[in-house]
Amino acid sequence: MSKILQKSFDTESLSREEAMEILNLPDEHLPVLLDAVYAVRKKYKGNTVGIQILTNARSGNCSQNCAYCAQSRDSEAEINRYRLVPYDKLLHNGHVARDKNLSRHCIGLSGIRFGDNEINEFANYVKNLKKEADTHICCSIGFLTPQQAKTLKDAGVNRINHNLNTSRNFYGNICTTHTYDERISNITMLQNMGFEICCGGIIGLGESKADVVDMLFEIKKINPQSVPVNFLIPLKGTALADADTSHLSPEYCLKILSLARLLVPESDIRCAAGREVYLKGKEKLMFYAVDSIFASGYLTADGQSIEDTIKLVTDAGFQVKLER
Ligand code: SF4
Repeated sequence: MSKILQKSFDTESLSREEAMEILNLPDEHLPVLLDAVYAVRKKYKGNTVGIQILTNARSGNCSQNCAYCAQSRDSEAEINRYRLVPYDKLLHNGHVARDKNLSRHCIGLSGIRFGDNEINEFANYVKNLKKEADTHICCSIGFLTPQQAKTLKDAGVNRINHNLNTSRNFYGNICTTHTYDERISNITMLQNMGFEICCGGIIGLGESKADVVDMLFEIKKINPQSVPVNFLIPLKGTALADADTSHLSPEYCLKILSLARLLVPESDIRCAAGREVYLKGKEKLMFYAVDSIFASGYLTADGQSIEDTIKLVTDAGFQVKLER
């Protein structure tokens, strides 16, 4: 284990076998792992934690069949459905992000492909937001054409999210309406255009540990600026409503977050959806690996309030990071 950790500290790549060793580490050795991972986290991220809020700018009615998603075409989840949120709602959240010194405003739009008119309309929102509540803006906005991406870049979008979600091998089990490679080629295009990239996954979809390792190695190749690690919240009405997530112990979640830090040490490692459920009571330990979290809920699931999230960070001895 100490050899593995020294390699990470020296930014030498771990092998797949070493990555599996971390996920298979007996729970009693977790404190040793967390201590060492903290040294890597401190080297690249110091003592700060960025807090983001998320606005669901377009909800439901997606043409895709992602099994975990309440907004998919096959989902019967009871959610609000709307084409585009009123600008005032986005502005309100932009002001919240700015006034509470949060690091980023993430904006999600359900759907996989958008018409140019829709992108232009949203780009105008972003331009105004930048003027009226200047924060870093990240968007999750499906597959963009090069022209649409340029429009959003010119409007001021800083970072784009495209989660790989799981391994290439397992992808067909959770979605059949688009491919893994379509995601990767869109990410490559966006990187070539100078966008920062946010790229992570979801744990608890029925994947094996080897799938988790494969996904994290794909993410390592992409080398995104941020890596959100979500833990599945099975939502009523979705295909994964009855998914067995009993293996998502706090210890297993912490090993995955640690591995993400070791494999992509310079990126923001974000503990995203599910932290309130699966790390309950042990959330402070995630900061050994993690330097980024959401406050105020997720696209279609509730989360912790901004005040409680800030308190979680400061009570753990970390500082809230401001990015302006
Ligand atoms: S994850 Fe995105 S693409 Fe997949 S169903 Fe949900 S909104 Fe659509």
